Parts: sequence; structure tokens; C-alpha cells
Amino acid sequence: MPLNFTKVEFVRSAAKRTDFLRDGLPQFAFAGRSNVGKSSVINRLVNRKNLAYVGASPGKTTQINYFLVDQGAYLVDLPGYGYAKVPQAEKERWAKLMESYFQDEGKLITAGVLIVDSRHKPTENDRTMHRWFRETGCPEIVVANKLDKLKKSQIEPALTLIRETLELGEGDALVPFSAEKGTGKEELIGLLNRACRR
Ligand code: GDP
Repeated sequence: MPLNFTKVEFVRSAAKRTDFLRDGLPQFAFAGRSNVGKSSVINRLVNRKNLAYVGASPGKTTQINYFLVDQGAYLVDLPGYGYAKVPQAEKERWAKLMESYFQDEGKLITAGVLIVDSRHKPTENDRTMHRWFRETGCPEIVVANKLDKLKKSQIEPALTLIRETLELGEGDALVPFSAEKGTGKEELIGLLNRACRR
């Protein structure tokens, strides 16, 4: 049975490894630089306006938020990266939290969702996050968000630039997406359900 993403509830926030959930349910980890639209993508997937907080301010960047989907999997909202104004101490807290989650001996991540901006070449930070997902060995889905901001003729070149920058192969998933319009939602849900069954 595919997961019903509209049946969703907030479970907890984690700021350190002892807070991580380890009950064996699949975990879909969502990552992206701040303002890329990560909250909007999550809200779109679950059909809510405000489940993941849109426009979270600097200072809230060091928590992992867990949402339970259909009693069958967790949607894990990783803290965004790339805020210019974040103090060094907070950047270090972020890095430590990410490292604990990605390198946990429980191999917590079932599938990674890396959200990038379809209008721009993936940043250095995007590439680092991409490498971290690859190093876990889990399937990764790259989501090219804000597609509605591109003209039709710009879409293919933009997707090619993302594929090249992240060195995606033929079989690597890249989903053109618009949190604003809903484009790509069913494809992403299909890929997550498939990752669950592996
Ligand atoms: P987050 O910091 O990554 O969680 O980003 P948010 O979800 O808060 O989105 C940042 C801004 O981008 C907000 O103003 C959103 O309305 C806007 N946004 C997010 N996704 C899209 C999209 O697909 N299309 C357009 N046009 N705007 C978007």
C-alpha cells in the first residue's frame, strides 16, 4: 500500500543524537539551502499550508524535525544551510548535528531528498550535501524546485546544468518541481514509496 502523505503529524524536534528516532520506520531526509523552498515542498507533498514552517528565520537552523506519514515512514526535515548571517558557533552546531545524523551507526536514512533551485547552478554547499547522501549509500532524489520561475525554453538547459554539476548518472532521479504549482508532486511521492519498498 502506498503511503498516504496527507495523513501526517509532527512528532518531535531533535537537536542532538540522543533525540534521533530509531524505531526502524523508513526515514526520508529532506535537505536544502535556506530559502530554496524546502518547507514549501514538504507542505505541498502533505497538502498543508503550514506543517513545515515556511520562512523560518536564522537561529532555528539547528534542529531536525520529524513528521510521521501514514503511520509508516518519517519525513525528516533537516535544518537548512547557507544562511549568510549565521554566527560561527551555530554553523558548528549545524555541522555536528548533520554529521551525527548522516554517520549514525543505525544507518537512519532510507532515502535522501536534496532540494535545489532550478534557476541556479547547485552551490558548493549543495554539492557537499549531495556527497553526504551518496556516502550513506541510500537512494537520493534531487528535486529542482521553483520550476514555475523558468520559461519553457529554460527548463532543459537548467536541468542539464544541475545534472552536470552534481554528476548525476542516467539512473539518478531528478524531479522538476514547483511547490507553488504542484508540479512533480506525484513523481516525488512515487519515488519515495519505491525507496520504502527496497
Ligand atoms: P525554506 O527556507 O527552504 O524552507 O524555503 P521556504 O519554503 O520558506 O520558501 C522560500 C520562499 O520561496 C518563499 O517565499 C516561498 O513562497 C518561495 N517558494 C518556495 N517554493 C517555490 C516555488 O516552487 N515557486 C515559487 N515561485 N516560489 C517558491
